Amino acid sequence: MEINMEDCLFCKIIKGEIPSKKVYEDDFVYAFYDISPQAPTHFLVIPKEHICCANMITAENSSVVSKCFEAIAKIANDLGIADDGYRVINNCGELGQQTVKHLHFHVLGGRQMQWPPG
Ligand code: AMP
Ligand code: ZN
Repeated sequence: MEINMEDCLFCKIIKGEIPSKKVYEDDFVYAFYDISPQAPTHFLVIPKEHICCANMITAENSSVVSKCFEAIAKIANDLGIADDGYRVINNCGELGQQTVKHLHFHVLGGRQMQWPPG
């Protein structure tokens, strides 16, 4: 179900109405540490534009996805996880177990990942 910007947790984080541990910000992207880390390094990268999930990416808004990945590369370098490698995850919808309905990319690093994921 669509959630509007006023009720969106991550929109509130972008606006500073809910505190977060920021790792990076520019005009298009905000990045912050996950409150429940699943790896030694676990941060989230989100577009400032409210897009509810990967299913809603279109030709009109997809440029923010590139911005997210530019930020991921920069942050991974800055945090020192780039050389060892890391995992980028997007959970989409019910079966994807997306809990926050604002597009976000998890970045996990600092430990060996497993495949396939659960
Ligand atoms: P997902 O399950 O893919 O929708 O991911 C949502 C993520 O947001 C989870 O990993 C949560 O731990 C994280 N999260 C929820 N609330 C906060 C918050 N206030 N600050 C930082 N991360 C949060
Ligand atoms: Zn939002």
